[in-house]
Amino acid sequence: MSASGFPAEGFAAPQRRRLVTEIPGPRSRELAARRAAALPAGLTSSAGIYAAAAGGGVIVDVDGNCMIDLGSGIAVTTVGNSAPHVVARAADQLEAFTHTCFLATPYELYIEVAETLNRLTPGDHEKRTALFNTGSEAVENAVKYARAATCRPAVIVFDHAFHGRSLLTMTMTAKDRPYKHGFGPFAPEVYRAPMAYPYRWPSGPDNCAAEALGRLADLIDVQLGADAIACVVVEPIQGEGGFIVPADGFLRGVEQLCRDRGILLVADEVQAGIARTGRWFASEHEGIVPDLVVTAKGLAGGLPLAAVTGRADVMDAAHPGGIGGTYSGNPVACAAALGVFDEITSNNLLERARDIGDLLTRELREITAGTDVIGQIRGRGAMIAAELVLPGTTEPHRDAPARIARHCQDNGVLVLTAGTFGNVLRFLPPLSISDELLRDALGVLAGAFATL
Ligand SMILES: *Cc1c(COP(=O)(O)O)cnc(C)c1O
Repeated sequence: MSASGFPAEGFAAPQRRRLVTEIPGPRSRELAARRAAALPAGLTSSAGIYAAAAGGGVIVDVDGNCMIDLGSGIAVTTVGNSAPHVVARAADQLEAFTHTCFLATPYELYIEVAETLNRLTPGDHEKRTALFNTGSEAVENAVKYARAATCRPAVIVFDHAFHGRSLLTMTMTAKDRPYKHGFGPFAPEVYRAPMAYPYRWPSGPDNCAAEALGRLADLIDVQLGADAIACVVVEPIQGEGGFIVPADGFLRGVEQLCRDRGILLVADEVQAGIARTGRWFASEHEGIVPDLVVTAKGLAGGLPLAAVTGRADVMDAAHPGGIGGTYSGNPVACAAALGVFDEITSNNLLERARDIGDLLTRELREITAGTDVIGQIRGRGAMIAAELVLPGTTEPHRDAPARIARHCQDNGVLVLTAGTFGNVLRFLPPLSISDELLRDALGVLAGAFATL
């Protein structure tokens, strides 16, 4: 890119919002036409622009428009796009070797990532880590470990859950459209319990945790029998479901129910983990210690890497050769992950995530004070959402988030939607974004709310 201002402040993208064409511009429209002729219709993108460069808090498109990034490629570039430590480590590794297959010829980087995750994940028990490529693949393997360790078949998941798109994880995902529709039959032995979703709990938020735990205990003890259940898989903050923070005490109750019955607790931290919520792991906010922790999205700064970290006795239960994958723990992705750990530590990004969350929450409340469509603003750290409802009701406002996201894109801000009912705006800015850019983006968002 040769647009003026490159490189600014050490980033590959100038750190300001600037539109130089209509959105999408002519180059993006040209690519959209090529795409329509080359890609299947079911593969969609939320933005109409095509990326050319990104860094800090900005994505520059192929027409030279500078867009403020409030999505981090769906919670992946938490430390920023092409973050310096990530680039340096990955580039060095690219020159050393790109692949030997860890199953064939192993290398140190994999071990270093495993040691780091063993140290950082909740609990000071002995742990082991296995690496994979995607969140779905890691969740599937967590279930394999849990089944191998318990010799039990069943898996319990929750309403509003998202665990991936592979056959097993699509089955574990709660939502028919777009994730499951027409893709069955599904995997057996997956059962669903109600999530303690305070905003939508029928008898109100105060009863939510206790009643949801009662329903879970009923599913386990009455319907299935505890000795049939390998694991409960839960997102400590639900991502695609709408950034649902479970009612206080719910996760601790789930942990206790599992412990008492020899059921393993698996935390799917794919979206909420790796500094996103102001802690290394979202489980820490509730003080739970899962038997297995699954990470992916934020783990390697955009390179495909995922992990299952768990109690040594559980992880060692799978037989030799039973777990693996050709590309799993790719050395370039491992190097990038070590760069991510460096970025988080050397730039105090846990604290930065909390500050971003405070700013976002405060300003979102301010700019929406005059509107009557906010059901709830919630989240932790730099994982904040606004659930939108029809005025004067708790009915989901199903088309407002898409309209707001569209208005924002037209004005140079990229924001994502979420929620079982599609009525949630979610904010996942890279932690490398400046307050100035955040405030500018919130100004655009205020304009979008004004058009409702
Ligand atoms: C994105 C996501 C997954 C699936 O990860 P992929 O890398 O897309 O397979 C699983 N669990 C959660 C909580 C996620 O947000």
